[in-house]
Amino acid sequence: MTMAHDHDRKDCLAMFAKLSEYLDNELDELTCKDIEDHAGECIPCKACLETLRQTIGLCRSLAPDEKPVPEAFSNRLKALIQKMSREKTTS
Ligand SMILES: [Zn+2]
Repeated sequence: MTMAHDHDRKDCLAMFAKLSEYLDNELDELTCKDIEDHAGECIPCKACLETLRQTIGLCRSLAPDEKPVPEAFSNRLKALIQKMSREKTTS
């Protein structure tokens, strides 16, 4: 495993773009693996992914019958992802 390196920020942006689909489970296994691989090497992206997962996990634990993430909630996550990717672009 490589140490955190100065990778192309475009990789991060591409990951963020895929992330909202990933959260909806719309991605195939290979793309999910891409995202997880990137998060494995990119600490800011990993932190972000884990925060999102925890948020979803929390939401699901409140719904014992394992409903899918409510649409409004998923939309909020998408807005958050968009905001973060915008911040990455401008910084
Ligand atoms: Zn990244």
